[in-house]
This record gives sequence, structure tokens and C-alpha cells, in this order.
Amino acid sequence: MRPSLFSYSLIDLRDYFVSQGLAKFAADQVYNWIYRKYNFDFESWPNVSAKVKAHIKNEMDITLPKIVWKGLSEDGTRKFLVQMSDKQTVESVVIPAKNNRLTLCLSTQVGCAIGCTFCHTGTMGLKRHLGAGEIVGQFMAIGSWLLQEEGPETRLTNIVYMGQGEPLHNFDNVKNATIIFMEDHGLCLGQRKITLSTSGLVPQIERLSDFPPINVAISLHASRDDMRTELMPINKVYDLKRLFSAIQKIPLKAHRHITYEYLLIKDLNDGQEDIEGLSRLLPRKVSKVNIIPFNEYPGSKFKRPSDERIIWFQKSLLAKGLITTIRATKGQDILAACGQLKSELETPNLWN
Ligand code: SF4
Repeated sequence: MRPSLFSYSLIDLRDYFVSQGLAKFAADQVYNWIYRKYNFDFESWPNVSAKVKAHIKNEMDITLPKIVWKGLSEDGTRKFLVQMSDKQTVESVVIPAKNNRLTLCLSTQVGCAIGCTFCHTGTMGLKRHLGAGEIVGQFMAIGSWLLQEEGPETRLTNIVYMGQGEPLHNFDNVKNATIIFMEDHGLCLGQRKITLSTSGLVPQIERLSDFPPINVAISLHASRDDMRTELMPINKVYDLKRLFSAIQKIPLKAHRHITYEYLLIKDLNDGQEDIEGLSRLLPRKVSKVNIIPFNEYPGSKFKRPSDERIIWFQKSLLAKGLITTIRATKGQDILAACGQLKSELETPNLWN
């Protein structure tokens, strides 16, 4: 299989070109066409030599994953089903926010091995990891579609690794993709613009010092081991004690927080004892709690708490001195909300 052009950091592409007898500076030219101009038609690049073009044509793969379905929610959230070259599909979601922010929720695996009991994706099992070129390709395919269909102002500004898959289970590919997203001569996304969310893979959390310094979110969802194990079987292997000892080793710059995602589920983890538990568990200065009201999906066994309960939960945590936000539910009508991503080609009412 030919190597994907989208799997190379700029430094790696320079080295690769040199190893193939091509000019080092051609890597910068190629990066500029692809990541600055979103132009993937290499024959149309006037400043790139014929030798480099021939190499790309014969030795490399510059095809992007294919968008095979898209859905638009009433709130502006767009959901895409993206097909890789082996026909496997993943879902990616574009979420609009204030100040023209446009966040892309990226998938990092086809399916997921973690099997969280509240998660639609978790019911698929893991099919395979995505390569770095496929992760970057998702971004470029959707970014390019937005530019063409919605105009030059529609630029993706942020990334969250919260789609299908556990990103740290695919550590090296997600790390390489992140380096490519952050490249100054390319997409130039800043470290505060990228967030990686993990279910709590302790050995990989301990390797985060070897990862670009992006935002980290931990899916916590419970303050007690028995309840967390019920929601996230991974807690059997990496319990709260091991998880928090690994979290302490995450290198954090001044004024940065670890975000703790807390899926709020009716009559399960939305009581006073849960507030006390979180208050005991989380260090005040470096923690932020993000409450995610559970999104019900067809067949889900859990329920969403009432709006009053959600607000009470937030206020109670704030009163304990914990910075606490509530994540707005987006894309509910197209099943694009968190935990609802699962390739649904067979579901007719999702098609537009
Ligand atoms: S919530 Fe995330 S880690 Fe858990 S099963 Fe779903 S995709 Fe995997």
C-alpha cells in the first residue's frame, strides 16, 4: 500500500523527500498547497517540480476519505459518515459555537474496545485503529467540504478527539495526527484548540509527557469504583486510585486544567452523595467538571435527568468550589450527540 501524504508531519515529509532524492523545500510547498490552500490536485501546483509530482502520483496516496452521508441538525450541528479506502466507516461531527468557533469531533478508531455501557459506539466492539493519515484525512475531507459548500469563512477552528474510539488506545497515530494539526506551516491549530478525551487508559496517560501539550479530558462519570466499573468496565483494570495517580503525572502548564467529563444519569449518579464524592476526589486548583446530561438513544437503558436536576447538580458542585460547566446538547435530532456515534448506514431515517 502506498503511504498516505496526510500521514507525514512536515519534518518527516522533508526527510522522506530527501531520502527519495527530492528537494527538501518541496515538502514545504506541498504542505502549503494541501493544508493552507486545501488544493489536492497536485497537477495544478505551478511551483512544484514535475519530479515531485511524478513521485506523488506513482509512490504516494493523496486520496481523502470519502464523505458518504451527511446530516444537518436544527441547531447547526453537522454529522458526517466518512468512508476509508477499505470501506470501513466512521462518524465525525462538526459543532458550531460562539465567535465563529467550529469544532470537529474526530473518530480515532473504527468502533471501540472499551465497551462503556452507556455508549452507542461501545456496542460495536473494535474493528481497527485509524492511521494518522486517516485521522488527518477526516479533518481535511470535512474541512474541504465545508469550504466548498458553505463558503471560505467556514473554517474548522477546534478539534476534540471524542468521536468513535479511545484515542489513547491508538496512541502513536493520534500523536502523529496531532503533530500534523499543530504544524505552524500547515493548519497551525494551537494547543488550546485541541482536546483529547480518554476513558482512563493508565499506561498511556503516563506517556502523555511524550505527547504535544494539548487539553486533556478524563471521562470520570462516577466518584466510586463500583459505580464507575458498572459504567466503564475499564475501571476494573484501572481503578480510581490508579487513574488519579497517573493523572498527577500529566504535565500541566500554569492556569491549565484537567477537565473531568461527568455523564449525568437519572437516579444513578446525580445525587448528593455523588457531589460529596466528587468534592473529595478532585483537586480544586487544577480540575474542571463538565457535566454531560445523558443523551438517550434508541434502546438505551439509562435516562436523562430533568433540567432542574442538572442545574441543581452544577450549583452544588460550584458551591463546593469546583469549576463546573454543563455541556449543551447538540445534534440530538441526528444522533450526533456524545455517546451516540455509531455507523448507522442501515438506519433509513438518518438519510437526508
Ligand atoms: S464512550 Fe468512548 S471509550 Fe467508551 S465505549 Fe464509547 S467510544 Fe469507547
